[in-house]
Amino acid sequence: MVKLLFPLLIVIAVGCTPKNGKKVALTEAKPGPITLVIHGGAGNILRENLTPEKETAYRERLTAALDSGYAVLERGGKSTEAVIAAIRIMEDSPLFNAGKGAVFTSEGINELDAAIMDGSNLMAGAVAGVTTIKNPITAAYAVMTQSEHVMLTGKGAEKFAGEQGLEIVPNSYFFDSTRYQQLIKAKANEKNHEAQWIDPYIKDKKFGTVGCVALDQYGNLAAGTSTGGMTNKKYGRVGDAPIIGAGTYAENATCAVSGTGWGEFYIRLSAAHDIASLMKYAGLTVQQAADSVILKKLPALGGNGGAIVLDRQGNFALPFCTPGMYRGYITRKGEGKVFIFKD
Ligand code: ASP
Repeated sequence: MVKLLFPLLIVIAVGCTPKNGKKVALTEAKPGPITLVIHGGAGNILRENLTPEKETAYRERLTAALDSGYAVLERGGKSTEAVIAAIRIMEDSPLFNAGKGAVFTSEGINELDAAIMDGSNLMAGAVAGVTTIKNPITAAYAVMTQSEHVMLTGKGAEKFAGEQGLEIVPNSYFFDSTRYQQLIKAKANEKNHEAQWIDPYIKDKKFGTVGCVALDQYGNLAAGTSTGGMTNKKYGRVGDAPIIGAGTYAENATCAVSGTGWGEFYIRLSAAHDIASLMKYAGLTVQQAADSVILKKLPALGGNGGAIVLDRQGNFALPFCTPGMYRGYITRKGEGKVFIFKD
């Protein structure tokens, strides 16, 4: 894993002698601190439900996602580019409920949601209910940068992605037999509200969205989230991930947020935007604002899940009110770590 020390944002004076012979100070901006934080879903993730092989597989993929996003930041890339790089690695893995590993709808297909937001200018892009876009996060980025819109849905989003030259796949690309078995079980358990969210990978409840927040050397924040939603979700259901302010938000003045959990509650709470607002209007720190929404307001309403939150100074928080959350970070000092369980 990358371990580099990055300097703080410093401005150095460089002496030079202009025509009038007087020495003046010119300023040259040095790169600021870079930070990257990811999640791969929150839920009832318990050590006893993960085989050692599965745990290793998750840790390796989380590390690969961190390294990929951080490499973009290290070479001077923008936070939006780092977010896409990290999320793509997780979208391409069947381990996570996004892209390749997306869960099945009640109709037995995969419908994916994703969003990205640029904290420097409040630009945002999202796609919802897409069935043929291999990497929905890239389509969200295209909506942000190549269209006048913020969100495109379903067939229209797919047409747009094709026109943008993004990779289109048949819906069968997302087929995974373990995930499909899960749908069958969920249908059998439809009357038991709790049981229908049992996840096949960890044999317990979980959601499993992926997300990333990043701070680049220019001091700009970005956030992105990508998901297959929830197993057995009804036709046309859209979760919080592609809704700006619910599951995804970024604003340089406050923070970048990506959430994971029971989406309906994140939508009702405007959870991501609420975290930013608590920082802006109530003067809370990243940790205080994130904890207030994820550890208090969310469970108080009956929801659960987690979030990753990062500010412009490189401070971050990863609260969750579930037993576990796949997560990881590389700090402004270049120190990287991944975690799964609470301890
Ligand atoms: N928040 C996502 C949704 O409700 C699910 C998740 O986080 O795994 O669509």
